[in-house]
Order: sequence, then structure tokens, then C-alpha cells
Amino acid sequence: MKQNRRDFIKTGGLIAGGLAVGFHTNGISKNFIKNFGSKMKLTYRPFTLEMKHVFTVAVHSRTTTPVMLTEIEFEGTKGYGEASMPPYLGESQESVATFLNKVNLEQFKDPFDLENILSYVDSINKKNTAAKASVDIALHDLIGKIMKQPWYKIWGYDKTKTPYTSFTIGIDTPDVVRQKVKEAEEFKVLKVKLGRDTDKEMIQTIRSITDKPIVVDVNQGWKNKEFALEMINWLNERNVEFVEQPMPKEQVDDISWLTENSPLPIIGDESIQRIDDVVKAYGVYSGINIKLMKCTGMREANKMLNLARSLNMKVMIGCMVETSCAISAAAQLSPMVDWADLDGNLLTSNDPYEGIKVIDGKVVLTDYPGIGLKS
Ligand SMILES: [Mg+2]
Repeated sequence: MKQNRRDFIKTGGLIAGGLAVGFHTNGISKNFIKNFGSKMKLTYRPFTLEMKHVFTVAVHSRTTTPVMLTEIEFEGTKGYGEASMPPYLGESQESVATFLNKVNLEQFKDPFDLENILSYVDSINKKNTAAKASVDIALHDLIGKIMKQPWYKIWGYDKTKTPYTSFTIGIDTPDVVRQKVKEAEEFKVLKVKLGRDTDKEMIQTIRSITDKPIVVDVNQGWKNKEFALEMINWLNERNVEFVEQPMPKEQVDDISWLTENSPLPIIGDESIQRIDDVVKAYGVYSGINIKLMKCTGMREANKMLNLARSLNMKVMIGCMVETSCAISAAAQLSPMVDWADLDGNLLTSNDPYEGIKVIDGKVVLTDYPGIGLKS
């Protein structure tokens, strides 16, 4: 720990102050002295998540996802966090490590100073939302553990109102699609990735096996609004619940037109990163897809959720391919959303954590404190 003379004097003064209080009031003094001397310590390690299947969406395919696992330790209690970096988002283990090296939590005396701490972390630079989320999640976990309460309770959300989660079926050959649908038997809602020239074939293949509700994610794959509306009308006759990011996010006028004319809700994902984007999405989309890795974590996600609700917009909580750490953190918000897509950990084969469960397709929160990880 580096400390210049001025800081040293400041800390010394505080400890002396704590002792002085302790001299008169015995019960409180121990905590005072302890807090003055305690610092939050942030550590991290890179981890490679292996995926069960090759994962294909409209723009790319891959078999692994790099993540960074973080820890914040304070007075012997550890909070866990995570950054997930699918390559198309522009972050890597290197960029996250560079960012985390700049974070100095030792300047804060109290983890409950969450607004100030996370505003500071956000102010370090404009990007690195996943790196910021890894600090945010670990801090929330730490605070919840100190309070001995899970975050859904701290926020006052009703555990019984968690939604079903969809299970993602990537773009693939009919044989593999049929196999994946069988593996997804437990799930009540399937999420289907579209946006290539096999869209109708994908849906028909799934419909040849099951009638369960489908939600569709086009990942900006349709470029023409009339074509998009034609597809949506076709999907509407096949028990599809909503369409996510049908067109490129830059085509704002086309998307507004589509939302106005579509029989199904149109949800923005790539268009909506942070809280400012919720205001911009109003009137363009029917709803938003909140993801911790896009919005810097639980603090801003909860604000986005409440803002979207007050604007009468639909809310979905989504994820990247990530471990049970970030999934359990996101799930704390799930009692308040219309739809959840929290299957990122289920697509992997080497999840190092145990957290929330999916039982009969429904998100089931644990009562472990913080973000709900079994420690
Ligand atoms: Mg999406």
C-alpha cells in the first residue's frame, strides 16, 4: 500500500479520533477504530468460459468466451464480480485488466458509499462497461453479504414474481436445431436467433417439434423495413411473443415505423446500452433489453428498469455468455421484468460458481446474501 506523508497524517488523525471516541463509549469504539483502518481491496483473474455448442448469431460464431472474475475484500468479507467480453463488444481481458488497474478503492472507507464509489469508477473513462460491471457486481455482493441479505430483498422485490427464462437456440443446421430444442425441453420459452437467409427454415424446424412460445432476436440482421414487417407478420402467426433488435440500430426512423406497424412488441438491445438510451428509445421501441455488461452493472440496471417502467415501456433482462456470478446478479432484478433471458451460464460447461437456478423454466432466486452465490 502506497501512502504519502499527507495521507499518513490524515489516517493517523482519524485513528486518533476513533480512539478518543472509544475512550468514552466502549461499545462503539471497536467498530470506529476498525473502520478507520480498513480498506477495500480489488483483485481479479482472467478465466475462459467453454461453451457446450458452437454459438452462432447473425454476425459471428465462437466456442469460448473470455471473462474476468473480480473480488472486493473488506474486513474479511469477499464480494464476487465478473466482466464478460464477447469479442464483438470491443472489450478483452487485456482492456479490462488495464481498466481495473486504474481503480483505486482504497480511497473509500465504506463499501456502503456505493453511489460515490461507482460514480468514481464510471468517471475513469467513457467505455469499459463490462469492466465497470465487474466492480459494481462485486461491490453489491460485498454489501449484501455485510447486510446478510440478497439484493432482491434490499430492493424490496417479490421473489415469487420471477419470470420464465428463455433458452437460446443459435443459428444452425436443422439437425442441430432439433437436437438443441430437445435439450431445451425444460424451458417454457425458446429464444431463436434470426437474421440470416434461413430464418423461416429455423422457425419451421422448431415448429415441427414444439408449439411452445418463441421470442426472436434478429441482432440487427434485417436491413429493409418492409421485409422486416413481412417477417414479423409471418412470425406473429407462429406463436412468437416479441422481436428483438430487428434492424440496425442506426435506422431509427425505420425502427419507429416498424414498432408502430408491428403486431408484436419490438425490443431494443444493441440500441440500448445505458440509462440515456432509455429516453432515446421511448417512441422508437416498445421495450428495452437491459444487460449488466452494457450498462455498467446492477446500480444502473435498476435505474434503467425503473425509468423504463415509468415510461410505460416493456423490460427484458438479458445477459452475455457469462458465469453464474453475473447471471445471479442480473436475476436479482428479474421479479420486476416482463421477460428474462438469463441462460448465459447454462450455455457453458465450466461455470466456476453456483447461484440462481432455473427450475421448470422459471428463474428461482436463492436466499444467499449479496448476489445469491453459494459460497
Ligand atoms: Mg439481443
